Amino acid sequence: MALSKQNGNQTVQLRFLGTGAGCGVPSFYCDCVACQEARQEPRCCRTRCALLIQGEKNTLIDAPPDLRQQLLHAGINQIDHFILTHSHYDHTGGLGELEFYVRVSHPEAIPTYMTATTQDWLHASFGFLEDCLYVQPLDVGWSFVLDDVNFTALDVTHAPGTLGFLMETAGRRTAYIPDTGPLPISTLEKLDNIDTLILGATFWGKNWMPDDHLSVDEAVQIGLNLQVKQLYLTHLSMHHDTPVTNQALEAYLHRFGKHINLAYDGLAITL
Ligand SMILES: [Zn+2]
Ligand SMILES: [Zn+2]
Repeated sequence: MALSKQNGNQTVQLRFLGTGAGCGVPSFYCDCVACQEARQEPRCCRTRCALLIQGEKNTLIDAPPDLRQQLLHAGINQIDHFILTHSHYDHTGGLGELEFYVRVSHPEAIPTYMTATTQDWLHASFGFLEDCLYVQPLDVGWSFVLDDVNFTALDVTHAPGTLGFLMETAGRRTAYIPDTGPLPISTLEKLDNIDTLILGATFWGKNWMPDDHLSVDEAVQIGLNLQVKQLYLTHLSMHHDTPVTNQALEAYLHRFGKHINLAYDGLAITL
């Protein structure tokens, strides 16, 4: 759809606050090669998935259990809008951090976007946030504009009520789909001619959950089929099915071209 507003010369940055799947890297209980590498090399540590869209305002996607440290580390002291992809713990375990923020330093509830299914879960699980988040329920295909970025909710194959998001500025189209299995045709159609795709790639080797997660190879294949200009892999387990180091995974990805890369915690790219 057409942009409601043009974002002129304003630069909008996407900042990866976290790029790990559910267990994080290193995991406290694990000594696999991925965890060994991360313990030696801070760049290889992966907190759970969250993304910050920084223009004139800050829009946060998801609130993982690591949220407080992620925001401190990135020097973020303001969240203007909040988007929740779905209700799983690795995307919501830090929701409680938003209560103090709103009650102590934010004048009003944070405008928040999620499906009605996720809103029902929020009401049941985080009732104390009722007056902190001003929820506007979304459905697949719905669009809204935040800080001159046009967001469209994308259908995915994951837990009920899960969404991905297409983000469009005046000149570029980017999609963020951190948790999904094979993409529905309706979503693939919306990703046609996309500039940057950020896609969950939970598994390396065997995909234990092929209906609702992707492996690295499956995510790469989607990027190649769509002929995306840039593909960033996120929501990386690094432990499962076969533990793998960043070094080995980057070497593997190089064979597909320089436009396919692993995301890292702290990586910032232009939207
Ligand atoms: Zn999930
Ligand atoms: Zn997840």
